[in-house]
Amino acid sequence: MKHYMMLFPCGKTKAVTFSYDDAIQSDIRFIELLNKYGLKGSFNISSNMCIEAEKQENPRNIKLSHIKEVYKGHEIASHGFTHPHLDRLPVEAMSYEIYQDRSTLEKASGQIVKGFVYPYGNYNADTITALKMNGLVYARTCIGFPKHHEFDVPENWLEMDTTCHHADSRLFDLADTFINEDPLRNWHRKAGFLFSIWGHTYEFDKEEEWERIEKLMSMVSNRAEVWYPTTIELYNYVKAYKSLDYSIDMSTIYNPSSYDIWLAKDGKPFAVPAGKTVNL
Ligand SMILES: [Zn+2]
Repeated sequence: MKHYMMLFPCGKTKAVTFSYDDAIQSDIRFIELLNKYGLKGSFNISSNMCIEAEKQENPRNIKLSHIKEVYKGHEIASHGFTHPHLDRLPVEAMSYEIYQDRSTLEKASGQIVKGFVYPYGNYNADTITALKMNGLVYARTCIGFPKHHEFDVPENWLEMDTTCHHADSRLFDLADTFINEDPLRNWHRKAGFLFSIWGHTYEFDKEEEWERIEKLMSMVSNRAEVWYPTTIELYNYVKAYKSLDYSIDMSTIYNPSSYDIWLAKDGKPFAVPAGKTVNL
């Protein structure tokens, strides 16, 4: 049987994502670093905090009227309107928290908000239903925290985990593994090679902690084999990859999506262009 491996756009073999919560003022400094290194972030916001910030003199959170500008070029995702323990709410209140946050963030940012992060990491089966009903397509947990340490692309996007928190003692070991791995040689790997990092920027309260995250960014950035998407860009690409049609013997592949999709066969990259059929 033929075996194909998913690659990322332009045949890149690896991806790095950053996912940061709570719309803290220090996100501004963090975004300056992301921009300096050509990286993308997904910022998960409980918009009621940003509404409250409008009334405060020195707010801890980014004001709602500033989020469009502050997060320009990066993804805004939902984090529940008032940052609730969603699993403790009746389903209608849960749904309100999700709807109201998505709606507020979309009006304030002009972005279409499709991503979510569970406040405190807490959720139940009703939460997942409420997310689906409100059109959210991925939701980040901290199920594996603090010991996940995997590089897999999520299979279950509504319970997706990350590789590690930025304060993880193994951060630089994991970065070394990520840089040194050649996924094309390890062709039985099922899908992609992803280093995903999460945290809150208020955790960088000392200069050496800012230096630590900048060191990480400089290690993983500017690499020809690495893609630097937001989480929703990653989701959309993987969704397009999953939409490929194969003949029964897998020798013909049709790509009905609007993305050029890259795969590898026996370690060799090739593309199935958007809307095209490829015979192998
Ligand atoms: Zn939070």
